[in-house]
Amino acid sequence: MNVVIVGAGIGGLTLGLRLHRAGIACRIYEAAPELKPLGVGINLLPHATKELAELGLLPALEEVAVTTTEIAYFNRFGQFIYSDPSGRFGGYDWPQFSIHRGDLQMVLLRAFVARAGRDAVVTGHRCRGVSQDADGATAHFEDPASQAQLPSRRGDIVVACEGIHSPIRKQFHPDEGPPRYSGLNMWRGVTRWKPFLSGASMVRIGGTEAAKVLVYPIRLNIDAEGRQLINWVVSIEQERAIAQRDWSRKGRLEDFIPAIADWTFDWLDVPAMCRAADEILEYPMVDQDPLPFWGEGRVTLLGDAAHPMLPRGANGGAQSILDCTALTNALVANADPVAALKAYEAERRPATGRVVLRNRAEPPDAILHEVSRRTGDKPFTRIEDVISSEELAALNNGYKRVAGFDHDRLRAAG
Ligand SMILES: Cc1cc2nc3c(=O)[nH]c(=O)nc-3n(C[C@H](O)[C@H](O)[C@H](O)COP(=O)(O)OP(=O)(O)OC[C@H]3O[C@@H](n4cnc5c(N)ncnc54)[C@H](O)[C@@H]3O)c2cc1C
Repeated sequence: MNVVIVGAGIGGLTLGLRLHRAGIACRIYEAAPELKPLGVGINLLPHATKELAELGLLPALEEVAVTTTEIAYFNRFGQFIYSDPSGRFGGYDWPQFSIHRGDLQMVLLRAFVARAGRDAVVTGHRCRGVSQDADGATAHFEDPASQAQLPSRRGDIVVACEGIHSPIRKQFHPDEGPPRYSGLNMWRGVTRWKPFLSGASMVRIGGTEAAKVLVYPIRLNIDAEGRQLINWVVSIEQERAIAQRDWSRKGRLEDFIPAIADWTFDWLDVPAMCRAADEILEYPMVDQDPLPFWGEGRVTLLGDAAHPMLPRGANGGAQSILDCTALTNALVANADPVAALKAYEAERRPATGRVVLRNRAEPPDAILHEVSRRTGDKPFTRIEDVISSEELAALNNGYKRVAGFDHDRLRAAG
């Protein structure tokens, strides 16, 4: 078995590590001429860290990531609503990490190259499409700078891990149409700032969709004053999507700061933190409907190429990591690669489709909406008079179940 992986992002590299561990030969082809630590923050919940632990990556991740202690909810007046202890602090056997996406990608890359060899990742290869016959599948490439054609690469199967703009997805689904706008735009950034709350808290603030903020540290002790690199995301309800999907598109402070100008709390000055950002990026909250099928025959999709979802449940990365385990297990269990890819899709397509739809209908911050609805978006005197702790826990656990990180499910999976 020889696998051609297209894209060296979170999914492609994790798949490489999984296949290598199972003794399946693979090579990754990446469009970027050089892999650089791009992006800002990303969260790895226990269902993802469980998988990364199996790959022996926890020590390397613990060195660069923040081990998150809690996910806490506040209204737009800075009043505390609810806190859910995270990862091991919440009784899971695995931690939750808040991490710079670039740090995560570099941990995966270093581990893969150390185990599979330097030649196992080939950069400067942009995939244009795939073809296949009864005996194998072939990915076709061009040089991203000159657009000159490069030699095609053949394997027993091709796995498309090239993210939201996947040309292989387009090839199989030419009439899919544009991404679906959720009605929210978001601005993301990182700021060197002093620790807040526990120093490792992930915090969701807001009420209605009008404006919400997600904040968490992704690097600890980055200077002599003990500051942290804090990741923040401001999402605002707007009629139109701001731009095309582009993870690296620069954003402007003046486009979102008025919506949160008075969010100055004794535990965090949100507008001041945003104003002090090193970098601001903008991104429309868009996703795509779950597909009726992913690939055909010897070609399949994985990660964002398969199931682009609204980036608000800390699940884009996690679901791509779960895909890798399912695909590897299917390849180990089935001698026939076509049957293996069918089994993989049968397991992962419905599961990820449910997360895509749940992220739309009842996102992980449903608690904020419910409290805002019950208080008329006003400050409260006592949260117990607004909503019971059982109701809060039920809202919180509903999302965990669909995304696959409720306690019972993870325990049962061993
Ligand atoms: C530059 C960048 C920054 C990001 N920043 C964040 C962030 O800050 N926070 C967050 O939550 N998520 C971020 N994401 C998305 C996040 O990584 C994914 O949602 C998730 O981890 C799923 O990973 P994936 O492997 O499916 O896709 P990705 O991680 O997006 O990886 C796709 C890879 O495929 C490569 N590629 C694209 N087209 C081709 C092609 N035609 N041929 C070959 N290779 C190709 C890309 O360069 C990339 O390395 C970012 C993605 C990118 C590419």
